[in-house]
Amino acid sequence: MEKLVIIGSGPAGLTAAVYAARANLNPLLIAGNLPGGLLTQTSEVENFPGFPDGINGFELMMNMQTQAEKFGVRIEINTVESVKFSDGGDQIITLDSGETVTARSVIVATGASPRWLGLESEERLKNCGVSACATCDGAFFTDMDVVVAGGGDSAMEEALFLTKFAKSVTVVHRRNELRASKIMAERAMNHEKINFVWNSQIVEVLGDKEVTGIKVRSNADGQEQVIPCQGLFVALGHSPQTELVKGQLELDEAGYIKLQCNTSMTNLKGVFAAGDCADPRYRQAITAAAAGCRAAIDAERYLG
Ligand code: NDP
Repeated sequence: MEKLVIIGSGPAGLTAAVYAARANLNPLLIAGNLPGGLLTQTSEVENFPGFPDGINGFELMMNMQTQAEKFGVRIEINTVESVKFSDGGDQIITLDSGETVTARSVIVATGASPRWLGLESEERLKNCGVSACATCDGAFFTDMDVVVAGGGDSAMEEALFLTKFAKSVTVVHRRNELRASKIMAERAMNHEKINFVWNSQIVEVLGDKEVTGIKVRSNADGQEQVIPCQGLFVALGHSPQTELVKGQLELDEAGYIKLQCNTSMTNLKGVFAAGDCADPRYRQAITAAAAGCRAAIDAERYLG
């Protein structure tokens, strides 16, 4: 019987692991299919305190992992297939490998996953010009024209990153103003390679085997236009990854895990949640890390 199993290896999961290990809970962390979480796919993280010159997202997460391992955290590179939670009893976790782990407590830190436009043509051309990760795929588009969908910080970050490779970057946003923070919006709007198409929705990704353009429709007058491009980067934010716990933990209408009274406690005793899967509001690396710390402290008190 494990004392504590942590599901997820982003800032929330790994911080929970550091705190739990230092409290002698000997945690087992199940890392999922992207060890280190989404931050490993980001380029520069400039707002994590302690790094005045910024730090590469992958490096930040590998540092957290090394720190957790230093305190004896066991990290298993596996995904969780299903869970059977109980209110204050044994928590049963079944891994993709078929192995079953029983624990007295669990911290769910499964994060969030990228949102897509939901078009058939987008699905068909994924990895053939359609991507949700400029850091991963940007270099494939050297000297080409690319489009970024979205108007938040992710979209600005993707657009700015892509200027290192692409000939031109066109941001298509469904409204007339950006949701992005002022500093990111200004950087993007002042960049000579970045153009904006406002108040427009992408209605089709064009191309047979590879992207050749996108069709956009104006929300103002319904007019359609084709923007020729070789790449489409979809940067529409993220949805919580809570499918695993649906039906067992209380979720809000957007699918985020509901927490009790400003703690990391879920509706079930012994089951805690931390990070983006339970945070519709802040969704930052630093807030996820802080939530991981809180969950480890709550788990320690519960077990005590
Ligand atoms: P956001 O939810 O902030 O932005 C998502 C964007 O996508 C919005 O502009 C939204 O439009 C648009 N959108 C959503 N669904 C659709 C759709 N179906 N069709 C067209 N457009 C759509 O997500 P982000 O990932 O950008 O940011 C999340 C959080 O992470 C924020 O707090 C942000 O500040 C932070 N962040 C910080 C970074 C940094 O500081 N370096 C980098 C990345 C994120 P609309 O505006 O109309 O709703």
